[in-house]
Amino acid sequence: MHAHGQHNSSSSSGACLTIDLSAIASNYRLLKARVGPTEVAGVVKADGYGLGATRVVQTLLKEGCRHFFVGLLDEARELTSLIGNGASIYVLNGLPPGAEQTCINMGAVPVLSSLPQLERWQATAKSRGIRIPAVIQVDTGMSRMGLSPDEVDKLVQLAPELNNLDVRFIMSHLACADDVANPANASQLRRFKNITARFPDWPASLDNSAGCFHDRDHFDLVRPGIALYGGAPTSNSNPMQPVIRLEAKIIQIRTVDAGTRVGYGLTFSAGRKTRIATVSVGYADGWPRQLSNRGNAYIGGLRVPIAGRISMDCITLDVTDVPDELLHEGAFVEFVGPHQCINTVARDAGTISYELLTQLSRRYERVYLPVTA
Ligand SMILES: *Cc1c(COP(=O)(O)O)cnc(C)c1O
Repeated sequence: MHAHGQHNSSSSSGACLTIDLSAIASNYRLLKARVGPTEVAGVVKADGYGLGATRVVQTLLKEGCRHFFVGLLDEARELTSLIGNGASIYVLNGLPPGAEQTCINMGAVPVLSSLPQLERWQATAKSRGIRIPAVIQVDTGMSRMGLSPDEVDKLVQLAPELNNLDVRFIMSHLACADDVANPANASQLRRFKNITARFPDWPASLDNSAGCFHDRDHFDLVRPGIALYGGAPTSNSNPMQPVIRLEAKIIQIRTVDAGTRVGYGLTFSAGRKTRIATVSVGYADGWPRQLSNRGNAYIGGLRVPIAGRISMDCITLDVTDVPDELLHEGAFVEFVGPHQCINTVARDAGTISYELLTQLSRRYERVYLPVTA
């Protein structure tokens, strides 16, 4: 990643989001080494967790990734033309009724999560005299998506009739994978093994990012998302490389007397003579308003607390302890970078790195750092 201050950022932008594609590639390689010989998919739903699905898919294709998961059929549209033959886009939310032809035209593969969905996809294929791919999701205890245990029993009977379906994977999803010691993990694993034993011809997939760090077999395919983007896969530690850097410009600097109040609601009161820097990032940029009077930023490696409420377009920081020479209009302030990772920001805001990334707005100037050979 480029060093602080070496921006090729345009003068018209207020804040710069740097996305390091080589860090995404490294994270993919780390996951591959961790779960090998299991294949590693790339989960790129919600526009690649907010970082740009097209750029992420292009990066992962070069690393040999052949399986990509999106959330919605609409998200598959811009990607299917990109991946070429031999790679697949799977749609986690499956097939809305009536979207069958669209899905076939796109060449996307639906994740089917109920018997009616399965029967509809099989009927579509049969009526057109074609064989089409599908992923089947089973519920192993999360109660969110997937065939219920009753439906799995019926699927055993039904399976021989599904001869128009090319079942690529049978999959399930762990509810508590990030909490490695949680007993729900073992219970879901046991149920998944019982189910996959009944469908020995179908490759299996269970693990998200966190699941990749459970010390056991990982079936045929893992489905990491957040770990690719630098988020901590489990609550234990974070072996992933940071992917984003977020820096915003100082708009103005003022010195206020002790007792002066700052920002909407006048919720910050200066306890001493205080220097306030107003910086060009706000909740409209996806910087959580929950960080009002709680979060931090960094200038020259020095922590500068957020003073007062976060506004739509700007933030006020207490920069009293920062040397003068680092404080000037247009100087960059670090919000995510070497001194503060996305997990820390998310924790301060009472949320998770996933939400932080997917809320990052379109307003930033985006700089992609390419994969270097
Ligand atoms: C989002 C998602 C993933 C990826 O999860 P991460 O925790 O980001 O690795 C994997 N599988 C399913 C079903 C998902 O919805």
